[in-house]
Amino acid sequence: MGQFSPRQVALFAALLVATVGCAVLVIIADLLPGLHWSVRGLMFFALLFLLAYGIFSFGIGRFINNRINLLYRTVHDLRRTPKDKEDPVLRGDVIGQVNTEVAEWATERAAEIKELQQREAFRREFIGNLAHELKTPIFNIQGYILTLLEGGLEDQKVNRDFLKRASNGVDRLMKIVEDLDMITKLESGVMDLRITRMDLNEVVSESIASMEILAKEKDVRLINELGPQLLVKADRNRMVQVFINLFNNAINYGKPGGTCTVRSFPLDDNVLVEVTDNGIGISEEHLPRLFERFYRVGKSRARNEGGSGLGLAIVKHIIDVHGGTISVKSVEGKGTTFNFTLRKAP
Ligand code: ADP
Repeated sequence: MGQFSPRQVALFAALLVATVGCAVLVIIADLLPGLHWSVRGLMFFALLFLLAYGIFSFGIGRFINNRINLLYRTVHDLRRTPKDKEDPVLRGDVIGQVNTEVAEWATERAAEIKELQQREAFRREFIGNLAHELKTPIFNIQGYILTLLEGGLEDQKVNRDFLKRASNGVDRLMKIVEDLDMITKLESGVMDLRITRMDLNEVVSESIASMEILAKEKDVRLINELGPQLLVKADRNRMVQVFINLFNNAINYGKPGGTCTVRSFPLDDNVLVEVTDNGIGISEEHLPRLFERFYRVGKSRARNEGGSGLGLAIVKHIIDVHGGTISVKSVEGKGTTFNFTLRKAP
């Protein structure tokens, strides 16, 4: 149909038929005596015009309708969810319905594209952060080994020390890899939780015992102020991991002579667990991003040598998969408090 609209085509076709009709009429005008031939011609012209216009409009209307239905079905099939069993029927304002369907489809696609772009940006940032985290211990290990190879090995004063430092670097690499493995498993849902009725008091005492050496080294006291028995529904090993990560931070970002205390408060069907320290604290602008992977507070702050930058991200994932929530409050220079909820066990 080129540059003509269907309506124009119908009009042209009607005109064509009417003109041919008129020509025929002129030829047979003599057969209708008494009426001026021009009036008769006009009547027939109008009659034929309307007839032809109606026939062509109907035909083209059907053609367009079929095309619109096809367009609607195509878009609808693209948006079809497993729940949609029957094809929808177009009635009434067909163009309006198609318009709505296409607009909704376009909005969905735009949202999808935005999400994919965000994921891509996130992936790039994640790989960049990971490479950065891995580089530090690798460079350290490489430095110590090279120094040892270049004569340090024979120097009794430094050889053991350098080997020890290289070994610490390997430990740090291992920690990053283990934490990455853990976070990937938590995120992809492949980690099976073994939810049991367990005593949180026992888990906290156990976690404190395993952090004792580091706590003493940094002169930070870990205190368990939970009642004699606090029964919750949780995965025991994952809970140990939550407390070890939080204690690790309280020690590394604590002040000499400082404390880190665990308390609990009843909250309907849950318990609210509070882990609070009086360490160096965190300024407010960092708090919203604190649970992101590899997020560190300020580049100038001394790095936690043993940390992977994934500790709090793991803690949050563990609390999330238990159906709980976690939050943080902090005042720079005064201390930090982490609060999370767990389900009470009857
Ligand atoms: P990291 O391995 O660096 O400790 P985390 O995910 O455990 O990684 O912590 C992220 C950042 O949050 C840390 O680098 C630190 O700057 C800050 N942070 C976490 N816990 C505390 C705390 N108790 N006191 C002060 N700063 C903290």
